[in-house]
Amino acid sequence: MKVIPCPSPNFNARKLPISMLVLHYTGMESGQAAIERLCDPAAQVSAHYVVEEDGTILNLVAEDQRAWHAGVSAWNGVRDVNSASIGIEIVNGGHDFGLPDFPAVQIEAVIALCQDILSRHAIHPLDVVGHSDIAPSRKTDPGEKFPWARLAAQGIGLFPEGGASEDILEEAALAQRLSTIGYDVSAAGAFSDLICAVQRRYTPADLSGQAGPHLCAMIGALSAQR
Ligand SMILES: [Zn+2]
Repeated sequence: MKVIPCPSPNFNARKLPISMLVLHYTGMESGQAAIERLCDPAAQVSAHYVVEEDGTILNLVAEDQRAWHAGVSAWNGVRDVNSASIGIEIVNGGHDFGLPDFPAVQIEAVIALCQDILSRHAIHPLDVVGHSDIAPSRKTDPGEKFPWARLAAQGIGLFPEGGASEDILEEAALAQRLSTIGYDVSAAGAFSDLICAVQRRYTPADLSGQAGPHLCAMIGALSAQR
């Protein structure tokens, strides 16, 4: 795996040990525009890595420093997600630019980079997350086209079968399981936004915001892994 240095000035010191991996899409018109923004001191945003559409991997911020990618977010009780995570920006136009497919060569590079990071840091599989998982009422990236199941098959995060019929769970029972997984169920915002974030990742064909039996079974299987 080849990693090209592309230093960004946008970082400061971590206040927490690394325990999470956060995946994003850039959501801009081009990779070049995104990289320029992630390196612009005025923008005050960054990530540790950028993965371009052709599979090129850029390193913007050293892993032992705190990059600025998560914004207002929370996961598994951590509110300073930037201090606790490594952030990867995946070049993709996102919802504002037609939600293009992720090229296979780009996903191969994301998989290699994630495997490398996970081999060097103690990150629980449930703590490999998307931006939409940690800021469900605010963010939709890396989006419903991101192949989470494929990553899980390569040891990056979890993607339970779900399968077996579980009854539809009441909101309180769902909230309890989602909290165990890591979702911030106390955040302001509609419960349906939270369910939609879970659907975006695990049942991308159904973004209704209503958890059916299949999603309830997946949520139960995930919560059992914490
Ligand atoms: Zn993001």
